[in-house]
Amino acid sequence: MNAGFGRLAAMAAVLMLCLAAVSSQAQEVKREITKIAGDLYRFQNKFHYSVFLVTPEGVIVTDPIDAEAAEWLKAEIASRFNRPIKYLVYSHDHRDHIAGGEVFADTATVIAHENAKATIIGEQRPTAVPDVTFSDRMTIELGGKTVHLLYLGPNHSDNMIVMHFPEERALFTVDFISVKRLPYMNLSDSYFPDWIQAIRQVEALDFDILVPGHGPLGTKADAADHGDYLQALYDAVLAAARAGQSLEQMKASIKLEKYQDWGRYAEWLPLNIEGVYQRVSLQRRGN
Ligand SMILES: [Zn+2]
Repeated sequence: MNAGFGRLAAMAAVLMLCLAAVSSQAQEVKREITKIAGDLYRFQNKFHYSVFLVTPEGVIVTDPIDAEAAEWLKAEIASRFNRPIKYLVYSHDHRDHIAGGEVFADTATVIAHENAKATIIGEQRPTAVPDVTFSDRMTIELGGKTVHLLYLGPNHSDNMIVMHFPEERALFTVDFISVKRLPYMNLSDSYFPDWIQAIRQVEALDFDILVPGHGPLGTKADAADHGDYLQALYDAVLAAARAGQSLEQMKASIKLEKYQDWGRYAEWLPLNIEGVYQRVSLQRRGN
């Protein structure tokens, strides 16, 4: 081996080490805690978000997301706040938001909607089974702070709840309201037009900060916009079905241009149309 080749081989080895470092960094899950307002914090795990409330008597956490995320969050809460975790509240039963609940269940009472408990057991979700359930509303009071849990009917799942933090004027709403972005793909596990009615109920609540389970924070106006989008989508698909259009024709004809600047417009509009088409097909009978 001559000296030049040896140097080249050494440089190549260094380059490969650098590339390996870059790719392992890229695979690392982004986790972050940010303050929303008052004692309410937002927890990010890659593309999923939940919230937690810190009180003098302990902490109320919400969707654990997955076991690794929950372990990270538990350690962060212990080192930053040094308070016990007293409650764990699930937004709805879907695995991508509530896996890993067992991480908090050693000290926390686990709360969810009654329909969520049935599905968590039935689908064998990898998480802690709720200890306490409710049907319409429930209030948690801890350390002088208050959280209202509200069921607004079926929307995205039959067991979605919203969490209202009155002192922080914030509302945690997962998966059925997003900010300037289309709802996810083909709207699996969704209920129409109940979903739209649930958003109209959100608009009547007293809050300023909308905290979704994905994407940036928003306002009550964003919730109203999301309801308007779903209403326009539903009306367009129903009208097209009544005009005798096939699903393929609807995907070509329904544009909803008002929303073309929203996130995922191009990719998810055809899938959103398909999702509503499936529900509308089950709920109508033509001539
Ligand atoms: Zn979901």
